[in-house]
Amino acid sequence: MKPFLRNKNPVTYEEIPEATAYEAGYLVTKNAGWRNIRPVIDIEKCKGCLQCYLYCPDGVIYKNDGKVAVDYDFCKGCGICKKICRFSAITMEEEK
Ligand code: SF4
Ligand code: SF4
Repeated sequence: MKPFLRNKNPVTYEEIPEATAYEAGYLVTKNAGWRNIRPVIDIEKCKGCLQCYLYCPDGVIYKNDGKVAVDYDFCKGCGICKKICRFSAITMEEEK
């Protein structure tokens, strides 16, 4: 499942979770504005092994026709997916 935005941001103290971690999928804003490089997936090289999907700390890689794709609205450009891909299917490119 792709990340999604909740319909409503927390507005009162009681609505903000006690722990530092929100439940999975709890994204209240698009957060890609700080990214200066972005992962680009070479579909020809991608084997669909899903290692990048499993290791992406933000859960923004999703399954797509037996391969993977990145939701750029939420990717922060950390490059972990590139490092974990043993098929060299991901390159980090400068944000335009
Ligand atoms: S780790 Fe590489 S080969 Fe595996 S799904 Fe991700 S991009 Fe494709
Ligand atoms: S650069 Fe980081 S946040 Fe973006 S898809 Fe790769 S692992 Fe996920």
